[in-house]
Amino acid sequence: MRIKVIVAGPRGKMGSEAIKMITNEEHIELVGCIDRKNNGKTLREIELATFFELNEARNVPVFENPAECFEKVEADVFLDLTVPDVGFTNTKLAIEHKLRAVVGTSGFSTEQIKTLNTLASTNNVGCIIAPNFAIGAVLMMQFSKMAAKYFPDVEIIEKHHDQKVDAPSGTAVKTMDLIQETRENKQQGHPNEFETVEGARGGEVAGMRVHSMRLPGLVAHQEVIFGGKSQLLTIKHDSFHRESFMEGIKLAIEAVMDEKHLIYGLENILDI
Ligand code: NAP
Repeated sequence: MRIKVIVAGPRGKMGSEAIKMITNEEHIELVGCIDRKNNGKTLREIELATFFELNEARNVPVFENPAECFEKVEADVFLDLTVPDVGFTNTKLAIEHKLRAVVGTSGFSTEQIKTLNTLASTNNVGCIIAPNFAIGAVLMMQFSKMAAKYFPDVEIIEKHHDQKVDAPSGTAVKTMDLIQETRENKQQGHPNEFETVEGARGGEVAGMRVHSMRLPGLVAHQEVIFGGKSQLLTIKHDSFHRESFMEGIKLAIEAVMDEKHLIYGLENILDI
C-alpha cells in the first residue's frame, strides 16, 4: 500500500525537500499540495526551492484553501511545513477531516498543542509533531536530559538562518522541557546579576538560559553547554541542509498510519 500525502508549504525549503524525498520513495505518494499563492495550478507550474525531477508528482493539484483540498483529495497523511499560525489551522482542519497529520512547522504554543492533542484523541486520528526531525538532534536532546541530572547548570545556544520567525527554536524549548525532567530546579548565575544591554543573558526557563542567534548562512544548530566543577560538557548538533530532517519525516509518515492520538517528539517513535 502506498501512503498518500498532502503537503502544505510546497515552495518552501522544507516543503520542497519533503516533496523530493516523497517522490524518491516507492511506498509514499504525493497527492496534493496547499499553497497560498498557486490555487488551481499543478505542481509542475510552481517554482520549488529545490530543483529535482518531479516525475509522477508533476500533475499533483495545488489548492489555496486547505478545507477544499482535504475534501477533494483522497489522502492518508497531511504534512505541514509552513509557519506556526497557518500550520496550526491547517493541522486542526486536517484532523477534523479525519486525516492523520505530521507537523514539522515549529513554534506552536503549548495551548495549541493541547488543543490538537484533544482533537486527535476525540477523532481517533494520529498526529506526530516534532520540533526537530533530525535524528541526531533527537539524540542530542536525549543526551542532554541524561547529563542534566549531574550538571544542573546549563545554557543553550541555538543558531538558525535569519528567515526563522520564532525564537527560541522548538528544539531549544523541547530540550529545556526534557532537561527539566532530570535537573534539580535552580536559579543559575550570580543572584545579583544585571544586564547593561537588554537580553544579554538570553531568555530564562526554570533558571536555565537560552540564547537565539539568527544569521544568514546558518541552517539549524544547537549547543547545550553544561558547567561543572572545573569541567564543561558540550553536546552539539548541526543540520547543514534540510535534507537532514527528511529521514525523520519519512519515519513519522510511516508511524502516524498506526496511531490514534497525538505524539509530540520524534524520540517517541524511535527505538531509543
Ligand atoms: P520557508 O522556506 O520560509 O517556507 C515556508 C513556507 O510556508 C513557504 O511555502 C511559505 O509560502 C509558506 N507560508 C509562509 N507564510 C504563510 C502564510 N501566512 N500562509 C500560507 N503559507 C505561508 O521555511 P522552511 O525552512 O521551509 O521551514 C518551514 C517550517 O518548518 C518552519 O516552521 C520551520 O521552523 C520548520 N522547520 C522544522 C524543522 C523540523 O525538523 N521540525 C526543521 C526545519 C524547519 P510563501 O512563500 O508564500 O511565504
